[in-house]
Amino acid sequence: MAVDLADFGKKNKIRYFLINFTDLFGIQRAKLVPLQAIADMQKNGAGFAGFATWLDMTPAHPDMFAVPDGDSVIQLPWKPEVAWVAGDLAMDGSGVGQAPRLVLKGLIERANALGLRPKSGIEAEYHIINADGTDISDGRDRQEKPCYDQSALMRRFDVISEICDAMLELGWGPYQNDHEDANGQFEMNWDYDDVLVTADRHAFFKFMVKSIAENHGLRATFMPKPFAHLTGNGCHVHLSMWDKAGKKNLFHDAKGELGLSRQAYHFLGGVMHHAEALAAITNPTVNSYKRINAPRTLSGATWSPNTVTYAGNNRTHMVRIPDAGRFEFRLADGAANPYLMQAAFLAAGLDGIENERDPGKRLDIDMYADGHKVRGAKKLPLNLLDAIRAFEKDKVLREALGSEFCDAYVKLKHNEWTAYCKHLTQWERDNTLDC
Ligand code: ADP
Ligand code: MG
Ligand code: MG
Ligand code: MG
Ligand code: MG
Repeated sequence: MAVDLADFGKKNKIRYFLINFTDLFGIQRAKLVPLQAIADMQKNGAGFAGFATWLDMTPAHPDMFAVPDGDSVIQLPWKPEVAWVAGDLAMDGSGVGQAPRLVLKGLIERANALGLRPKSGIEAEYHIINADGTDISDGRDRQEKPCYDQSALMRRFDVISEICDAMLELGWGPYQNDHEDANGQFEMNWDYDDVLVTADRHAFFKFMVKSIAENHGLRATFMPKPFAHLTGNGCHVHLSMWDKAGKKNLFHDAKGELGLSRQAYHFLGGVMHHAEALAAITNPTVNSYKRINAPRTLSGATWSPNTVTYAGNNRTHMVRIPDAGRFEFRLADGAANPYLMQAAFLAAGLDGIENERDPGKRLDIDMYADGHKVRGAKKLPLNLLDAIRAFEKDKVLREALGSEFCDAYVKLKHNEWTAYCKHLTQWERDNTLDC
């Protein structure tokens, strides 16, 4: 039985619920519903006009309803009279095929049918910038290698500790916070869980970080590459696959290479096989491609991949094996949709399991220094258009994510690329005026 929202509200003195959904561009939409109306809303959902959001609908479409999933409810630690609850989109009595949370649920069901239960943890890096978005907020944060900078971290203690306290209160198991590799950049880590739980927390985390930063007169951004000379915002995904009871990690095999099972390597084989298409989901914006494939940053490394390669405990590849029993996928960035990102990794990995795909050889080299010596390593897409085209060609991924989703997504992303191409840049003027 899902959590009864009216009971939850009364018990926790909640006055309003945000009935939330995330659209194809990762934008979170909501209706603010008073406690008095929540029982009906939990049954019937909150109404929306789909056209008004990024779901590729028309103004003529019937009403769309976000039906709250009571189990996802979270009381806002910074505003306890309000609770957030993720909704699943329905229209004319059935699920909306392009709704990101439903796409993910579909993939989880497919994993369950194979006796598998995916669990993941994410690292959603972000920058704290000034309120008008022009620069980082801390003028003294100018070290060339600012990673783990104790003083810069402590100058933002009020914001970071408020977010970490919130996660403690919510029972997410946060265990560390740090200043990351770019000036103004931070990362906060909490425990992995079932992928749907992690996806909801990821969505909520972005909302929470932005809200709390704003309350402190600042602004937080997850933009993949907000500053050209600094390390960008990645969103590493750690993934393992468990039995249905969640007791045994099926990716773990003490006798396997680096503590990973055959099945784990097949999953990896799927991710390697579909990587270029996957990027259309994990790196979904024009700006994403300025993080991967980027030139060296001020700190000395971008920490992001540019080739479809994997290694042991080595952070210069697309996939790292940090530990027995799990992979770290380093491809995704801060713009990735929390639901679609997990769904896409599952789609690629489950195909790998079903078709026993071979991930090829591990490359235990410094890819940044010695990458040019490697022959035949696939490059990641150089821009959004290449990624969308790779995605369009990838029948397996498209089938796994569903045609309604894929058609809508590809159409909107092509529109985005076309809109971007209408801009004349300074670079073009600098390099072409005298042609
Ligand atoms: P790093 O910076 O070394 O990549 P972090 O500590 O920042 O690692 O993040 C590691 C993430 O991986 C955390 O969310 C953690 O809970 C998660 N994780 C650890 N073990 C597993 C596992 N078996 N399956 C999925 N996620 C895991
Ligand atoms: Mg109205
Ligand atoms: Mg980390
Ligand atoms: Mg990091
Ligand atoms: Mg990492």
